[in-house]
Amino acid sequence: MHISDRIAQISASPTLAMAAKAAAMKAAGENILSMSLGEPDFPTPAHVKQAVKEAVDADMSHYGPVAGTPGLRAVAAKYMSANKPGEADTFAAEDIIVSVGAKQSICNAIETLVGKGDEVILPTPCWVSYSEMVKLAEGVPVYVRTTYENDFILTPEALEAAITPRTRLIVLCTPNNPTGAVYSADQIDALAKVLVRHPEVAVIADEIYNRICYTGKCATWASHSELLDRLVIVNGVSKAFAMTGYRIGWLACKDKTFIKACTRLQGQQITCATMVAQYAAQKALEGDMTCIDEMTAAFERRRDLIIELAKDVPGFKVRSPKGAFYLFPDVTALFGKKAPAGSRYAADKGTDLITDADELCEYLLQDGHVACVSGGAFGEPTCLRISYACSEEQIREAMRRIREAILALK
Ligand code: PMP
Ligand code: GLU
Repeated sequence: MHISDRIAQISASPTLAMAAKAAAMKAAGENILSMSLGEPDFPTPAHVKQAVKEAVDADMSHYGPVAGTPGLRAVAAKYMSANKPGEADTFAAEDIIVSVGAKQSICNAIETLVGKGDEVILPTPCWVSYSEMVKLAEGVPVYVRTTYENDFILTPEALEAAITPRTRLIVLCTPNNPTGAVYSADQIDALAKVLVRHPEVAVIADEIYNRICYTGKCATWASHSELLDRLVIVNGVSKAFAMTGYRIGWLACKDKTFIKACTRLQGQQITCATMVAQYAAQKALEGDMTCIDEMTAAFERRRDLIIELAKDVPGFKVRSPKGAFYLFPDVTALFGKKAPAGSRYAADKGTDLITDADELCEYLLQDGHVACVSGGAFGEPTCLRISYACSEEQIREAMRRIREAILALK
């Protein structure tokens, strides 16, 4: 069959592709450690599992409202609000659209805001899917590089310089996947000041990791009332509640025209997110949140461990992630090295030379038996992404293997 130009031009998700490759190698009997996927390894909290049983028994098996159930929209609005105690909530239930994961919320928001030829600013490194979502909407991704030296934080100057008369949107992610950078309130303020001067530029703030933050309460774009009429904030239960497979995420936006348009899109697309999963997500947000603190404390211990171990890996230059669960070492020092004799990578590739992070990643998979994701997938081919959303034992063994494989390079 003929594949449309729109779909033919988008690439497969490299994070999912690497996870699938590692799983296939494992299924074929190889001892591969997967550090590729950003997915909490914890079980879903018990009270959420209980909610699923209740939802099934209560026959929540029919279509629901397109934008989400009133119960989930109401608690999601509270969860997203940035008001101080005593002040009115930033968001109300009517400002929320619930979708099949934050991924769909972002995709729908981009589809709703971006037209043919519209420019969308993507500070890189950035999550693999933004660019492809922009291309699906026939928009043009405009990459603005942030650097290791600058903590991977977008500066107001770089933002200002990237805005043109065609700019319609910027997509920002804090805490960041893949860098682990967290924007402080002052850094968000500085970007907001630039955006105030450009009222035609909308903002999608991807805050899916905002509960997994090691620097205290994470600053949110929701506190910028001057931008609320063109701000879409995305969150969900995947990361904070270890509910990736439930596929529930949402967006919050005060612009009623946007909510109406985006709901219209969703109505033609999915009707509504799974009702049982929406109920489970509602109970997660209504229930005891100490589970988030416990998981975040565990991620922080793992972060400290992996940073310590990474210091012993020759050629790794690391910054301590402030949020999310990814280590993003600069590995430039290893480019130009050669795989050792008998290397499976070299045999497959036809050369033993490693010139960038894609090749290093492949070498670590083939010869080190550890699956990571190349920084190239995120627009930064000098780095490697290692997910530490796994046990301390797995982190130790993976870093031992990585170190050994790198020590073997010539
Ligand atoms: N944004 C970022 C930055 C992510 O890493 C992910 C993880 N897949 C998502 C959005 C989507 O999350 P969800 O599982 O809710 O679709
Ligand atoms: N967000 C996760 C990651 O970056 C899950 C995979 C995906 O949706 O891309 O690994």
